[in-house]
Amino acid sequence: MKATIFDIERNSYVDGPGIRTTVFFKGCNLRCAWCHNPESQSGFSQMLFYKDKCTGCGKCKEKCPNNLESCELCGRCALYCPHDAREICGREYTVDEVMREILKDQSYYETSGGGVTFSGGECMLQIDFLEEILKECKSHGIHTAVDTAGHVPFEYFEKIIPYTDLFLYDVKSLDNEKHKEYTGATNELILANLEMLLKSGKAVWVRIPIIPNVNDTEEEMKKIKSFLCSYGYPPKVELLPYHAMGEHKYAALGKKAHAFSVPGKEKISRLRKLFE
Ligand code: SF4
Ligand code: SF4
Repeated sequence: MKATIFDIERNSYVDGPGIRTTVFFKGCNLRCAWCHNPESQSGFSQMLFYKDKCTGCGKCKEKCPNNLESCELCGRCALYCPHDAREICGREYTVDEVMREILKDQSYYETSGGGVTFSGGECMLQIDFLEEILKECKSHGIHTAVDTAGHVPFEYFEKIIPYTDLFLYDVKSLDNEKHKEYTGATNELILANLEMLLKSGKAVWVRIPIIPNVNDTEEEMKKIKSFLCSYGYPPKVELLPYHAMGEHKYAALGKKAHAFSVPGKEKISRLRKLFE
C-alpha cells in the first residue's frame, strides 16, 4: 500500500505535544484562500519552479529528456539545477518507508511526551494508508495525532479512532456563506463530525486560523466558543494567525495567492483571551 506524501518533518514542536515527526500527505478537498501549503492541494506529484532563483543557465533543459517541452516528473532538472530553482513536490511512499523515518526519533518522543502527527493536505483522504500506519505506530507504542479539516465521511473517523490518541481539528468559520466562499465547501459536515468527535470523548485540540475580514471578530470567536461549549469543550483551542509565508509557493506553482493582511498582535491576544 502506498500514499502520496510531500514532506516528512522531524523535530516539530507545533503539531501536538512534545517533539514530533509530522508527515504531510498530498491532496485536499478544501481550497482555503489563505492556505500556506498550496502544494498540498493536488493529490498528485507536481513541479515547483522558483523563477526568482533561476539564472537561466540552461542546465535543466540540457538534462531534461523532453527538452522542457513536456514534463514526466523524472526529477532530472531539479537534480542538476545549481540554484534549487526546481523541485518535485510529492512522491509515493510505502508504510515501511514512512515508519523508517518515524522510528529515527522514537527516543525523543519518549523523553518529550511527543510522537507522530499525520497532516497535509487532508491526510484522511488516503484513509486506508492512514489506518495502516496508525496501527503500525501504536504497535511501537508511539503517540499518534491526526491533523484534519474534517470534511470527510464520519466513517473515516470511525476507522482510525482506535489508533489515534489526539485529533487536531480545524474550525474556520461558523458562517456557512463565508465558509463556502473562502474554502469552497460548506461547514455542515465539518461541524457534524466535530460534534460527534467531541461527544465520543476522544482527545481533540481545536485549531482556528485567524484571517482578517473572514473570521477575525470577537463575534465569530464567541460563536465558535459557544458551539464548543455545547458539545464538550476541548482541552485546548489554538488560534493560528494568518501569515503570508506560502506566497512564493503559489508563484512557483503558477498560481496567484489571495491577498490578506497579517493580523496584529493586539487583536490576536484579545481573541485568545476569549478562550481562556
Ligand atoms: S522533471 Fe524531468 S521531464 Fe520534467 S522538466 Fe524536469 S527533467 Fe524534464
Ligand atoms: S538549471 Fe536551474 S538555474 Fe539553470 S535554467 Fe534551469 S531552473 Fe534556471
